[in-house]
Amino acid sequence: MFRKTPPAIAATRRATGAAWDQLAALGWAPVGRLGAGRLNRALARELPAGHPLAGTAFSAVARAEGQDDVAFALADGRLALVHLTYGPPTGTGPSVAYLPDVDALLGDLAMEGTHVAALLRSEELAEAMGPGRAVCPACGSDWGMAEARDDCPVCDGWALARPCPVCEGRCGALWDRAVTDSADTGAPVFLGRCARS
Ligand SMILES: [Zn+2]
Ligand SMILES: [Zn+2]
Repeated sequence: MFRKTPPAIAATRRATGAAWDQLAALGWAPVGRLGAGRLNRALARELPAGHPLAGTAFSAVARAEGQDDVAFALADGRLALVHLTYGPPTGTGPSVAYLPDVDALLGDLAMEGTHVAALLRSEELAEAMGPGRAVCPACGSDWGMAEARDDCPVCDGWALARPCPVCEGRCGALWDRAVTDSADTGAPVFLGRCARS
């Protein structure tokens, strides 16, 4: 599609290759040149005229294992995260999340992983605690049933565990709720330590 690879795309490809281990740990893998050709054609087929990526230079550099989420390097140095459908263009085409660089991709993937881990830990702690033993004083969510509300300042979206609030979970650490302190202060009190600091 483009005979000469834009330098920023080549640089992103190198940065992705250098982050191989980190990507693998997060369930992603770098995409080689052959694989990239196939994914590039798949994306190009899905883009309706007028889509922000239509007619631009892009090249797949990494993908989620066992899923159709693919990171494409763009000529301006950014990454575009796209969920491929391998179908013809539908409506306005695929939605795209833009990331400034490979580090941001790694951070976002780590954040997602920590988010899922926090939900699992919350469920686990709730199971051990049981219903009615830890109820949010503000909204009545039963944290012991792993209930929490996003719009409640004491829940702050989480029941008994949350991703590290210092770095939004990029460090992978989970923090546990101090139930009594949360109830006494009317604030979301969680205990833990940012693994980055
Ligand atoms: Zn609440
Ligand atoms: Zn952290």
